[in-house]
Amino acid sequence: MSEKYIYDLSEGDASMKPLLGGKGAGVAEMTRLGVPVPDGFTVTTQACIETMNNNGEWPEGLRGQIADALTRFEQRAGRVLGASTKPLLVSVRSGAVVSMPGMMDTILNLGISDESVDAIAAESGNERFAWDCYRRFIQMYGEVVEGLSSHVYEDALTAMKRAKGAESDTDLSAADLKELTAEFKRISNEELGGNWTNDPREQLFRAVEAVFRSWQNPRAQVYRKANHIPDDLGTAVNVMQMVFGNRGDTSGTGVCFTRNPSTGEKALYGEFLTNAQGEDVVAGIRTPRPLSELRDVLPEAYDQLIKTMRTMETHYRDMQDMEFTIENGKLYMLQTRNGKRTAAAALKVAADLVDEGLIDKEEAVRRIEPEQLDQLLHPAIDPNHSAAPVVTGLPASPGAGVGAAVFDADTAAEKGAAGEPVILIRFETTPDDIHGVLQSQGVLTAHGGMTSHAAVVARGFGKPCVAGATTIKINPDAKTVTIGDVVIHEGDQITVNGSTGEVFNGPLALIPPRLGEDFQKVVGWADEIRDLGVEANADNGPDAAKARELGAEGIGLCRTEHMFFGEHRLPAMHEMILATNDEERRSALDKILPMQQADFEAIFTEMKGLPVTVRLLDPPLHEFMPDLVTQALTVQELELTGADPGELAAERTTLAQVKKLHEQNPMLGTRGCRLGMLYPQIPDMQARAVVRAALAVFEREGETVQLQIMIPLVHLQQELKTQREIVVAAVDDELAKAGKQLDYKVGTMIELPRAALCADQIAQYADFFSFGTNDLTQTTLGISRDDAENGFLGWYESSGVVKRDPFATVDVDGVGQLVRMGVEKGRSVNPSLSTGVCGEHGGDPDSIAFFQTIGLDYVSCSPYRVPIARFAAAKAKLAQQDSAS
Ligand code: ADP
Ligand code: MG
Ligand code: MG
Repeated sequence: MSEKYIYDLSEGDASMKPLLGGKGAGVAEMTRLGVPVPDGFTVTTQACIETMNNNGEWPEGLRGQIADALTRFEQRAGRVLGASTKPLLVSVRSGAVVSMPGMMDTILNLGISDESVDAIAAESGNERFAWDCYRRFIQMYGEVVEGLSSHVYEDALTAMKRAKGAESDTDLSAADLKELTAEFKRISNEELGGNWTNDPREQLFRAVEAVFRSWQNPRAQVYRKANHIPDDLGTAVNVMQMVFGNRGDTSGTGVCFTRNPSTGEKALYGEFLTNAQGEDVVAGIRTPRPLSELRDVLPEAYDQLIKTMRTMETHYRDMQDMEFTIENGKLYMLQTRNGKRTAAAALKVAADLVDEGLIDKEEAVRRIEPEQLDQLLHPAIDPNHSAAPVVTGLPASPGAGVGAAVFDADTAAEKGAAGEPVILIRFETTPDDIHGVLQSQGVLTAHGGMTSHAAVVARGFGKPCVAGATTIKINPDAKTVTIGDVVIHEGDQITVNGSTGEVFNGPLALIPPRLGEDFQKVVGWADEIRDLGVEANADNGPDAAKARELGAEGIGLCRTEHMFFGEHRLPAMHEMILATNDEERRSALDKILPMQQADFEAIFTEMKGLPVTVRLLDPPLHEFMPDLVTQALTVQELELTGADPGELAAERTTLAQVKKLHEQNPMLGTRGCRLGMLYPQIPDMQARAVVRAALAVFEREGETVQLQIMIPLVHLQQELKTQREIVVAAVDDELAKAGKQLDYKVGTMIELPRAALCADQIAQYADFFSFGTNDLTQTTLGISRDDAENGFLGWYESSGVVKRDPFATVDVDGVGQLVRMGVEKGRSVNPSLSTGVCGEHGGDPDSIAFFQTIGLDYVSCSPYRVPIARFAAAKAKLAQQDSAS
């Protein structure tokens, strides 16, 4: 017997999501709870996966199982697909495990045919309605299933309207639509070279196949990539009896959320249209009415809807996003799922559900997508402005965006990717625009409501969106938008406020974001759960202040190279590099010391007694020198112009030094502790500056920094031994001179494979290890990050050779193995060794999950990733507990 690929609606439940997809499991669960849902069956994701793995061939038995399921369905419904009496009409809906709103295809009204259309007319008492459904079906089926271009149909429709003197579609009569249907069928068949089918059963098979295929369409692929959804999950297919929201004024359709998905407030949120089919609301073709008005229009259905919303929210213990249709006053639910929401809403809903006793604190933390918190860190419009909005649309996705107006998604994607801030302006956005939305600072549409796909997608990505600004006039050919008497051209700056719906001509000033009460509350719960410490990478006072404000428990990486740049420092640095003896070298460095000391004081002051890990000078010296070609030209010019011999000699000396320092692979050259080995005066000076700063801050503020001095790029035990001796001698000398005491630690970065492999040797001289996973990834993989990310690595990623960018998410098998080994070997000789990560992986939730499993003590990331890392660390701990139990 072949595998079971089909489940009747009554056989499923919420737990079967992996097999039935989110939509299928959701409608099955509602059915189980007695909520009215149209009947049907679901083809499993497994069938889709097997089809994909088999080059589009269906698995054995699938066709037969669909035919059998349809027969059972027809018996339950007392109707037959496409029959001339009591016909059954169905929708064929995609539904992935992780919801991907609007990214895949759905076909409505399948079963309408030459045989059934009259019965549909008779049942509805509306001939025009029947023929309107029929011509819409042929177009939808032709486009989605047979891949025909929409122009084919639009042209025929336009021709028909012209012939009949009709202004709009609604002016066409039943007879006109009947004629149009025949024309649509004729053209479809012609386009398909006679391969068009009028048989509803055959259409059903082809529709299922098309939904499978839609898993692979470009917009679905972009969406999965942006959301890290695996490509091999496949989609389920839901075949459901049609209910009609377009049967007149006592019918309608809509979308509702059980709480406000922008703010999280417990308030009515939704939209509907009377006399319309579902797509009309979500596709943003007509701008819908607010749900509150449904109470006046269809009070009974409204009451039942409110009751159902409450039932489903309590049942799922989470905010629901639901679709409904009302047919002649009777309510049907078509979909429920955990609603997509902004980060602010996610925090509020989680905090409120805890207060309402529906979930506990741990569950609240589990519900937060760490990555999403990035949104909260986006700016808002500075309220101190006097600009008046040129138009106000619907506040569809909060936040503020400023950028150049662009009128198509490709341009938005291109300019946005090149770093130019853009605002995408569209009549309505379709799921095909997703790549443009992703690269925009904000979105403005003329049509569509708060629940349109554009709004849902924008909220998911944290992009500000103003939708349904109906009075704006977009001319996509001229690339202009006319708002009142203002004409905005492509490239003109505009500002959108997705929190209020306001649009401004010109760029407004933005202010930094604030983390509200809900954030503080929920992140507090995360902090109670997590074991991993969260520190920040910060190199100056302001960054340190930001890091502490966002909850960093210390600075895990303070880079010092920038402390050598600047008007007064660089000349001293040149002096140091050009020095011919130790004395000259030391005197040059003595000029830099007080300046570095001031920098450290600023940082230590902000950190108020928390740990600060200072990394000694890391980059190759040539970075502080003029570039080789420039210097050669300078010398040449002086030679030609016969300049002052003293000056010429000096420039020649510099050129000679530049040549000497030049390296083919500087990143693998004289840098890191290798500099400190060649020029011990550098670590000596830096250690003194650090200690003097620590003592000064204690003196002034009464705070003692927990000082950690870190030696970069060690691969030999001897390197660390020597560097440690230099640092300890300098620190102790400073302390002795000052007559003070200070606890401090000396440790190293583990960022070369050999350092991880020989971590037991190195740990003998280290109080701590900080895994520099950026360099460790480069050196383990033999990949230069700067060159590869725009080159082959990007291609590797897009073509699936690698699943994730190893510089964003740690390569667990390779680099991860080295980190694990480094920790184990290090601790084997030095049980009190503290271990952390300071590469960019320290702020990546998936990498953090791995670091939790190998027992690191802390992660360190950029200040703005700190909130994300705090949640990610808590979730990593919970995941570890879950897998242990
Ligand atoms: P998506 O995932 O893109 O929202 P859906 O499968 O939910 O796609 O369907 C698109 C629209 O068609 C929705 O508005 C939905 O409510 C409507 N729809 C789907 N099935 C039916 C049905 N059986 N009867 C009436 N409307 C339907
Ligand atoms: Mg839907
Ligand atoms: Mg490094």
